[in-house]
Amino acid sequence: MSLLEMKNIKKSFDGQVVLKDISLSVEKGEVLGIIGPSGSGKSTLLRCATGLEKQDFGEIKYEGTFGLVFQNFNLFPHYSVMKNITDAPIKVQKRKKEEVYEEARELLRKMGLEDKEKAYPFQLSGGQQQRISIARALAMKPDILFFDEPTSALDPELTGEILKVIRDLAAEHMTMVIVTHEMNFAKNVADKIIFMDQGIIAEEGTPEEVFGSSNKRMQEFLGKLG
Ligand code: ADP
Ligand code: MG
Repeated sequence: MSLLEMKNIKKSFDGQVVLKDISLSVEKGEVLGIIGPSGSGKSTLLRCATGLEKQDFGEIKYEGTFGLVFQNFNLFPHYSVMKNITDAPIKVQKRKKEEVYEEARELLRKMGLEDKEKAYPFQLSGGQQQRISIARALAMKPDILFFDEPTSALDPELTGEILKVIRDLAAEHMTMVIVTHEMNFAKNVADKIIFMDQGIIAEEGTPEEVFGSSNKRMQEFLGKLG
């Protein structure tokens, strides 16, 4: 069953074509990894998929709801950890406060941050803030979780803790779309990989297929990182 289908998506900014003709689908339980050079359109693709940006052409179909985890955490600085996690489920989803708080505490335990519910974002490390922002997304009980380079604003020693949380979610069969520059992580966690280059999907397949591809741009990209 497809939870997300994008068909022939095109998007330009001020005459610059950023997404040329993107079609993809995400199946329930699948982890889709999106890789590619800076400026290739990965964030725009996620922003169109999640409705933060409206495509110029093409069709997007959903089943269910989604959550989004950004590069820079985007926590509300003047809200406590608990309020960051519980605000939307209570105000937007109109769910019972007691129930939402209980679930938030469970999520904090899962993230190893059960002692931080009263803390404010500025009191936390980048890795802790990012785990809170994952907990906040999960509190909405999304059917798909989107990540846009969740570790790129973190010091290398904090990257591992975030990748572990995402790996654990994959093991629980959470459906996820992950834009990442962590190639080994993409290889290990994704069921399917898309390599974006200049607004098109230049390669698509299993990690073995995509990383083993003889596509010149893909090889250049891997070489540049290597
Ligand atoms: P990536 O995430 O792969 O680095 P982006 O999707 O952020 O790529 O950007 C692709 C291109 O679109 C870039 O050239 C970027 O400058 C341009 N772009 C993205 N968002 C906007 C915007 N809101 N206004 C104008 N140009 C944008
Ligand atoms: Mg980006």
